[in-house]
Amino acid sequence: MDLATLSSSPATTSKAPMSLLVIGTLAYDTVETPFDRRERALGGSAVYFAMAASAFGPVRMAGIVGEDFAASDLELLRARGVDTQGIEHAKGESFHWGGSYAPDWNTRTTLFTRLNVLEQFHPKLPKSYCESHYVFLANAEPAVQLEALAQCSQRKFVVADTMNFWIDKYLPDLKRVLREVDGIVLNDEEARMLAGETNLIRAARKVLSMGPRYVVLKKGEHGAFLIGRDAHFSLPAYPVDQVIDPTGAGDCFAGGFMAAIAEADNTEPRTLRRAMLYGTVTASYCVQGFSIEDIGRRKRPEIEARFQELLQITTV
Ligand code: AMP
Repeated sequence: MDLATLSSSPATTSKAPMSLLVIGTLAYDTVETPFDRRERALGGSAVYFAMAASAFGPVRMAGIVGEDFAASDLELLRARGVDTQGIEHAKGESFHWGGSYAPDWNTRTTLFTRLNVLEQFHPKLPKSYCESHYVFLANAEPAVQLEALAQCSQRKFVVADTMNFWIDKYLPDLKRVLREVDGIVLNDEEARMLAGETNLIRAARKVLSMGPRYVVLKKGEHGAFLIGRDAHFSLPAYPVDQVIDPTGAGDCFAGGFMAAIAEADNTEPRTLRRAMLYGTVTASYCVQGFSIEDIGRRKRPEIEARFQELLQITTV
């Protein structure tokens, strides 16, 4: 596949607005980077995903928040065109996660995971959400991912995410998720943990044998792989000259990736490859700011400009 083929607009762009749903967490994050510390910054897997994907078109979002969740934060999402009807309001506190990054930026330590209202979350999707064609099960408890998925009767392509916290505690449910979805996104540590293999290619193949057709392997600043039974695509990260906060990069990658697929309304090999480029671009904007400060203001033309730049620097 050459540069011109990947850079031209999708062959079959759907005229209907994209039909994309995300189910995941809305959170307040306490994050320590080598240079800064923020208490209760807006975060959560579904928030980052939606902030990235909404640069492409409308996004439906399902999750749960507590009484402490600021109305202004929900307004930020709505202002981006995110449908927030599926966000449940519960008594108690919102999900709160704390993490810190080592000076190399690649090593992240989870300091605490306070599930709070997440412990009582059983998604009941609004009727309009159940018609979504493209579904992203963002990082959340696998049983909750399954409950949500069972309601998506019109789904065409489903991708899930997970993390060490869930692999460690809820492996049997996670294996059921793997049997139900078309794709899974994992970082290198998660892939090794899930497959029990150190070599990443062998780990990805083992994950494929658990059910999904595609594994997207995120390797932080080293880029990402798309591995399928008959597909292999590898891409470096976009070279960002100043990383401010890597939190949410994986979710923003997924947001760009899924939005590009939902917009094209097909999962042909070329669409998946283009989606990998879009995911790389949205992740790169994410790490340039704290929380959603950078990705939350990016518009489509800026994403297109970086997409073209990424093509130029990765092709002969
Ligand atoms: P990422 O950097 O892409 O892995 O995503 C970080 C986001 O995931 C943060 O905003 C957290 O609030 C959220 N998060 C952290 N742990 C969990 C978990 N166990 N389940 C769901 N979301 C989580």
